[in-house]
Amino acid sequence: MIVKDWCSFCGECAGVCPRNLITVKEYALIFDDSECRECNLCVDACPITALERE
Ligand code: SF4
Ligand code: SF4
Repeated sequence: MIVKDWCSFCGECAGVCPRNLITVKEYALIFDDSECRECNLCVDACPITALERE
């Protein structure tokens, strides 16, 4: 995943991941992509289009 500079770390993307693979930690998003099923829910959930699939 690519996290854009304008990410506000609101946690919306983390909240929708069915596998809880995204953690918001201070000013970083941490992805555990081992089990990512590429459903794109996290990308679609971002209100400011700050998340992009590589
Ligand atoms: S939903 Fe968007 S702005 Fe919010 S933490 Fe995720 S990438 Fe950042
Ligand atoms: S694409 Fe789906 S499974 Fe992968 S991190 Fe985003 S919400 Fe989670």
